[in-house]
This record gives sequence, C-alpha cells and structure tokens, in this order.
Amino acid sequence: MKINIIRGQNHIGGSIIELSTENTRIILDAGANLKENRAHPYVPKVPGLFNPGNSYDGIFVSHYHWDHAGLLPFVIAGNRIFMGETAYKILSAVSSCKGKQTGFDPEFMYPFEEVKVGDFRVTPVPCDHSAFASFMFLIQVENKTLLYTADFRSTGHLDFGTLLEILPEVDILITEGTTLSRGENFHELSEQELEDFAVEILKEKSGPAFVYLSAQNIDRIITAYHAATRSGRRFILDNISAAAIDASGVDMFAQRLPANHHRIPEEDLFSNPDFMLCVTPQTLRNLVMLSGRIQIKDSVLFFGRREVHMLKPLTATMIQLLESKGVTVSMFHTSGHADSNTIESLVRKVKPDIIIPVHTECSRWFRKSEETSRVIYDCHNCIL
Ligand SMILES: [Zn+2]
Ligand SMILES: [Zn+2]
Repeated sequence: MKINIIRGQNHIGGSIIELSTENTRIILDAGANLKENRAHPYVPKVPGLFNPGNSYDGIFVSHYHWDHAGLLPFVIAGNRIFMGETAYKILSAVSSCKGKQTGFDPEFMYPFEEVKVGDFRVTPVPCDHSAFASFMFLIQVENKTLLYTADFRSTGHLDFGTLLEILPEVDILITEGTTLSRGENFHELSEQELEDFAVEILKEKSGPAFVYLSAQNIDRIITAYHAATRSGRRFILDNISAAAIDASGVDMFAQRLPANHHRIPEEDLFSNPDFMLCVTPQTLRNLVMLSGRIQIKDSVLFFGRREVHMLKPLTATMIQLLESKGVTVSMFHTSGHADSNTIESLVRKVKPDIIIPVHTECSRWFRKSEETSRVIYDCHNCIL
C-alpha cells in the first residue's frame, strides 16, 4: 500500500490524504485551508480528484468541518463521495439557512457499517469532536489495519473510554496533533466542566442569558441546554441552531424563535427574562439590534467560540454594547481536539507499528514514540 499525505501533515487544515494499492485508490478528506476565502478556496492540482484524470474509487469524509470537507464541491464527476448521513444532514441544514447548498452529493455511511471499495474496507467509528457525528476510519487493506483518527477529543459528550475499548491494535496510525504545540501540561476543559461553570454563573444572574456559538457545534448547544435546564431556565434556539439540532436528531426540549423573524421579538421574550437564548453568527445582528433597543439587567453572555472570534467587527460591537449595559461576558469554550494525554492513551491502546502525525505543527512530539513505533514525519508516496 502507498500512503501519500497530499496536504495537511505539518500544518493544521486543508487535509487531503491518498491511500492506494495497485488496483484501488481512495482519498480521506478533501479539506480547504483554514484561512481561505470561503467562496473561492485554493484548489490544489490533483488529477482524478479536482482535475481531469482517472477518478478515485472513493472519497471518505470524516466530518463536515471546512478543513476536511471544504473542497468537496470541487471534486470532479465520476468520484464516489462517502460521508455520515447525520453529518451531511447538519451541514446541509446549516448551509440552506445561509441560502447555500453543500455542492456535493455523498453516499451515506453509518457507524460501524463497513464500506468496501476495491482493496479497501473502511469502517466508520464514531468519535467525539466539535463537529457532531464525526468519524474515525478503521481501514483494512492488504492484511494491514490502519486507523485514521481525523479530528477527535476526549472531553465531549461521547465517552472516550468506550471508544478506546472498541479500537483494536493497528499496524498504521494516522493521527491528528492539533494541540501538541500548546505544551505537555496543557489540559483541555471538558464540556461537563463548561456546563458546571455556566450553572455557577447562572445561579448569580436574574436577567436573561445569551450564548453565542456556531450552530454546527452541536455538542456546545447541548452543553448550554444542560446548563439552562439545570438552572431552571427556558432554552431558546435561534433559527439556525434549531435547524442544526433538528438535523442532528438530538432530542431537546427547547423553544424556538418564530420562523422567518427579522428581529428578536423582545415583547414576548422579555415578559419573562428567565431564559437562555442561542445566538449564532448568522443571527448576531439581531442581538446587536436588540441590545440597542432594550434595558438588560443582571445578564450574562456566554462566548462559546474561540477567543479570536471576539475580534470580528460585528462580534466586537455586540460585546461592547452588552458590556456597556452591564452584561457579564464569560468565555464558554473548549477545544475540539485531543490534548497530549488523550493522544498518548490512544497510541498506548492501538499499539501502532507506524505512526503518521497529521494536522499538527508539532510532529516532533511523537519522537518519544520512536522506541516502539516508526514515525513518518513527511509522508509522501510512502510504500508501507
Ligand atoms: Zn474538525
Ligand atoms: Zn481539522
């Protein structure tokens, strides 16, 4: 078998991995680089994938994040794309709320249901990540077992211990290492810790609570929902988070803002301010307009995205406006990626002969695995 990391080994984002035998060629993820124009991302020249040539036997998509799925609309006809049904439905629902289409039409995969294409047998294994219904891929080919982790973590609502129990020993491990540059002692908060922290704050507040998050981050919506419920608050979804939750199949006793509203209906809402309202980037403008119009007392905004999003102009305006009204702004975020302890326990469990770090700026972290495994730091057309 040949493994070629076309893109995304020693940097984070733009993941494209090619696996091939004499008879069969597959691709794992077709991601765009993170900091690229969403309408016109750079598309590398890959014959058969994005450019004329013999098409691949299967394009397998681990999850719907831009850096793993962003180039799927550019895949040329004749390629079969495989993606989890739930993941695709969430992507499709959120896209259509933004007036867009996904731009590709996959065949669906389901947890633990093997897909066979040529020499490859690919089994999707559900894993926890900030994209809901994400998969790792367990791949059998030519008497070898390979695990591609894609993006994963141990701090969300899916139990990592259970995943470790399921995973067998493998010959080859292709693993992400996003957070490894943050140092050895770096520990990520869990969604449960975020929830407990929010509950403590909500106990102190008598006014409305807002939570700003990405609608695609279903796990964070669930965390906010649990915090609201534990604090005896109504949980209200905006249109986009409601569409994402519906597509995810997650059961949630939440209220929804009226469909097609162009502003947050404060008359109804604030007659009883005992609620937590989800605000997504697409409805942020509504909250900005609302906070300009009304008095908000003893209120909190949970900021459920990375800190860097605070710098965006409209977000900065919202934060400024709310703070000027005495609203407490509280970080409500944790990473979607495994910390070093988590990666260590994965490696210990699957005992790989070969480790191929990807999606990382710190592949040297794997030097310590060299006693037991061969580590390939630059994997271009490696024959294994
Ligand atoms: Zn991701
Ligand atoms: Zn990623």
